[in-house]
Amino acid sequence: MRTYLLPETGNFYKSNLHCHTTISDGALTPEEIKRIYKEEGYSIVAYTDHNIMVAHQELRDENFLPLNGFEGDFNEGGATIDPNLGTIRCCHICFISPEEHNPRQLCFHRSEYLFHGNNKKNAELVNYDRNAPDYVRAYTPESINDYIGQFKDAGFFITYNHPTWSLETYREFSNYEGMDAMEIHNYGCYACGFDEENSRYYDDLLHLGRRIGCIAADDNHNHHPRDSAKWDSFGGFTYIKAPALTYADVFAALKRGDYYASRGPQITELYLEDGKVHIKCSPARRISLVLGTRRADVRMNTDGTLITEAAFDLKPRDMFFRITVWDEQMRPAYTRAYFMDEVR
Ligand SMILES: [Zn+2]
Ligand SMILES: [Zn+2]
Repeated sequence: MRTYLLPETGNFYKSNLHCHTTISDGALTPEEIKRIYKEEGYSIVAYTDHNIMVAHQELRDENFLPLNGFEGDFNEGGATIDPNLGTIRCCHICFISPEEHNPRQLCFHRSEYLFHGNNKKNAELVNYDRNAPDYVRAYTPESINDYIGQFKDAGFFITYNHPTWSLETYREFSNYEGMDAMEIHNYGCYACGFDEENSRYYDDLLHLGRRIGCIAADDNHNHHPRDSAKWDSFGGFTYIKAPALTYADVFAALKRGDYYASRGPQITELYLEDGKVHIKCSPARRISLVLGTRRADVRMNTDGTLITEAAFDLKPRDMFFRITVWDEQMRPAYTRAYFMDEVR
C-alpha cells in the first residue's frame, strides 16, 4: 500500500513565507513585491512586516495569494534597542494568520517595538483590540512562550526565524515551544554573508521531540541592486501542496505540514511503500536521508550523472526521517521531518 506524505493530488505552489515591504523597513511596496514575485513564478507571498500585521488582500488575484502575517521581535536589552547593532541576541518569529479578512493582531503594544522603518506611521493600520492593555514583551523564554502560545491558541502558523543572525543557540531556542516550523534556510541573512543554513539546529529541535516542520524563505528587504550579491529575493522558497490557491486551502496545507523547503531543487513525490520511503525530484547530484539515530543513508552516482529518485529502507528504531535533495550546484531542498509514529 502506498501512503503519500506530500499529498498525491493538488498543486505545488511556490511561496515566500517571510517578506518585508515599505510597511516596515523594506525598500519595495507590497504591490512591487507582488509584481516581481509573480514574474519569478511565485503564487504565494506571506507579507510579514516587522511587528505590525497589515493585510494586503487587495493584491489577491487568480494566480496570486497574499498571506496575512507579521514578524515579532524579542530583543535582549528591551524594546528600543536597534537589533542590527552590536552583539545583543534576539528572537524573531513569523506569525501567519488563519483569517483571510480583517486579521486580528494579538498581544499588541501601541508604542513599543515600532522602530523598524515605517512601523510607527503604519501602526494605525493594525486591527487590534483597542480595549486590551498594551502587551509587554521581555527576552525571556517565559515571555516568548506566552506570546507564541497566545497566537498558537488563535490558530496562527508560527515559524522560528534565522537563529544564526539572531545569535541564538541551543541554550535559547531549546526553550521555545509551539512553533509550527523553523527556517532551515533564510536567504536574506545568507545574502548578507551569514551562514544561515540551519539543518543542524533543526535536528536539535527534532531530537527534543518537537514535531516541527522546516521552511526556506527570503526575508527580503530589497535594499541592494538586483544584480548584486546582496540582493535578497528568490533564493529560499517553500513549495506548498494544496488542493487550490485559496487562503483556506493553503493555510490548512501549512498547518498539516504539506510543504518542503528549497534553495533550487524540486521534489515531485514523497511516499511510503513496502517499508521504504520513496522520493522523486528534479535532477539531483545527491539524495541523503537523516533518521535521528546513528544511521543515515545516501544515493548518488559516482560517474557524475544525476538521479531523479531514490528509495530508502526505514527501520523500527529510526526516530524520524527527513530527506535532502542536492542539485548539480549542491543547492539543497529539504523535506520536513516525519516521525515514525506519525506514519505507521
Ligand atoms: Zn527577522
Ligand atoms: Zn524578517
